[in-house]
Amino acid sequence: MTEDRSTPRSYEQPAAYQSLPGGPLDPDRGFYAGVASADRALTQEFEIPVRSGQAWEVKAGSIVRIHAVEGPQVGDLNLWNLHNPREHFWAARTRQLQRASMTTYDRFWSTLPYLRPMATVIGDSMAEHPDAEVIHDLLGTRCDPYVNRMLSGEDFDQHCHSNLTRAVLDHGLTESDIHDVLNVFQFAGLNEKREYFMDTCPTRPGDFFEFFAEIDLLCALSTCPGGDLSMHMWGSEAASPEEQLKHCHPLGVQVFSVAEDALRGWTPPEPAAYRGRNGRHGLELHSS
Ligand SMILES: [Zn+2]
Repeated sequence: MTEDRSTPRSYEQPAAYQSLPGGPLDPDRGFYAGVASADRALTQEFEIPVRSGQAWEVKAGSIVRIHAVEGPQVGDLNLWNLHNPREHFWAARTRQLQRASMTTYDRFWSTLPYLRPMATVIGDSMAEHPDAEVIHDLLGTRCDPYVNRMLSGEDFDQHCHSNLTRAVLDHGLTESDIHDVLNVFQFAGLNEKREYFMDTCPTRPGDFFEFFAEIDLLCALSTCPGGDLSMHMWGSEAASPEEQLKHCHPLGVQVFSVAEDALRGWTPPEPAAYRGRNGRHGLELHSS
């Protein structure tokens, strides 16, 4: 059959990646709703000042809550397996397995060859927002000083990439460990020309995003120097530093332990079950 090239295809397509009911892409919502509403005890609490970053450790079975404290602010989030930094959040695959932004019951999937849910979103105050589909952006990545220099000709050291790098140094990691982020509270998407756009972060003080740690995690979060992203940061449109700072706010982080009975039956997920020949083909060829 000849393809009809006069009209575009419908994009009303089912998701490419699906699992059977009860499978890996269909988490037990009753369990996670129970965790979200169970008794919890605060174990860590801190505020990340404007244009900076912090890293912190989280035990499997805990809840991490990121919240707006003073005004709208975007946060760039990285996650690692606390015991093995080669296993970290895989933003691109998570985008395919879940969606282009994250909300309640979506999971943070890890890199190969591990591929397991590192964390599951259990609370999102933006879930009922009319623009919920483009909040908590997973299309874009962190701002960085290299692209900034390329586009603006200026050096700036407080981009999310730099903030995250400084934050993880004390945990034995380096710039090379920083990976594609979840842009928490970020309003972003693709415009009609399929170009990436960002718009003003719509959060208010008290808005939150929280996730359940499925494995022991090292987390790092940067308060984006773009603040609420209401101003263009690049080139001749750049406002004065004072003007930009008016759009920047701290972010609050809280970690909670969860009442044991809410976790009954739960165990940290195992790495991917695949035991095939990946990575061993080359060895085999050379040994023959
Ligand atoms: Zn940023």
